[in-house]
Amino acid sequence: MHIYDMIIIGGGPAGYTAALYAVRAGLDTVLFEKLSAGGQMALTGDIDNYPGFEEGIDGFTLSVKMQQGAERFGAKTEYDEVSNVDFSEPIKRVRTANGIFHGKTVVIASGANPRELGVEDEQKLIGKGVHYCAHCDGRFYKDKTVVVVGGGNSAAADALYLSRLAKKVYVVHRRDTLRATNVYHEPLLKAENVEFIWNSTVEQFISDTSVKGIKTKNVTDKTLKELACDGVFVSIGRKPATEFLKEAVNLDENGYVVADESTRTNVDGVYAIGDVRTKVLRQVVTAVSDGAVAVHYAEEYLSKS
Ligand code: NAP
Repeated sequence: MHIYDMIIIGGGPAGYTAALYAVRAGLDTVLFEKLSAGGQMALTGDIDNYPGFEEGIDGFTLSVKMQQGAERFGAKTEYDEVSNVDFSEPIKRVRTANGIFHGKTVVIASGANPRELGVEDEQKLIGKGVHYCAHCDGRFYKDKTVVVVGGGNSAAADALYLSRLAKKVYVVHRRDTLRATNVYHEPLLKAENVEFIWNSTVEQFISDTSVKGIKTKNVTDKTLKELACDGVFVSIGRKPATEFLKEAVNLDENGYVVADESTRTNVDGVYAIGDVRTKVLRQVVTAVSDGAVAVHYAEEYLSKS
């Protein structure tokens, strides 16, 4: 039975930073990634707030660079989805479709996925007018009318991006003000083709084989309104990818793995890094920081065990 020093679950910026630090520290390490490197970062268009790239960098390119940077020192990626884990013994077990893998330490870096609206037919219309990534799918809406749902930084950034492509962008938000940081407010309010539908939620998709519009509901006076559009970009935050953990570590009420800045969970030798852990600021720069910190504590743990 092969026992790894470290098993990393997830190949986003946090996971590949942990891999880089681990292999450079001489730890026998494997990283499991279910799809391709980068996680949510790979779906992001321009990243302007990750230092070192004075012109900014697109998320896909940065993802490939992070993977290659770790692989340069021998990090190994297994393209395999983790289905469950068992942390009840000091040698932890991680199960994938290809078998059970054993590790002295485990780093959870599984990130978070886009949250859905939960409106009827949403699933059925994914890719047929319902989208969760403006930078991936916005190009289909050149000179068309789109709706962005949400009022956070992602929704604001998506609306700005789409305003440069689409003929018209409606922003449907359930409050009367954006949660997004001020940096987005002025350009959004200035964009002539952006219109805010405040205090409103999406009640229904109007569709035949694809989206033709939405029905919104005003949360204060409960009035319904139809809005014709070609596409809807749902940008209402993310939900952590922690289903495979079941009861193995403590999760908070929203499903995030409970861990502080040390990245240590309630289980010795198990760490949570990046968007999957409880934290104030979910950014690439805080994810990579977590990766380095986790390896520091894992080395300390391994030296004592
Ligand atoms: P977020 O900050 O959690 O915002 C989610 C937005 O969606 C909120 O406006 C929320 O409304 C709304 N919402 C949530 N559930 C909803 C529902 N069921 N129906 C309608 N609206 C709903 O999420 P985010 O914008 O994806 O950002 C996630 C993290 O990434 C944040 O920490 C953010 O700062 C960061 N981020 C940073 C940048 C940047 O710095 N450039 C860019 C993108 C993301 P309420 O306001 O009413 O709660």
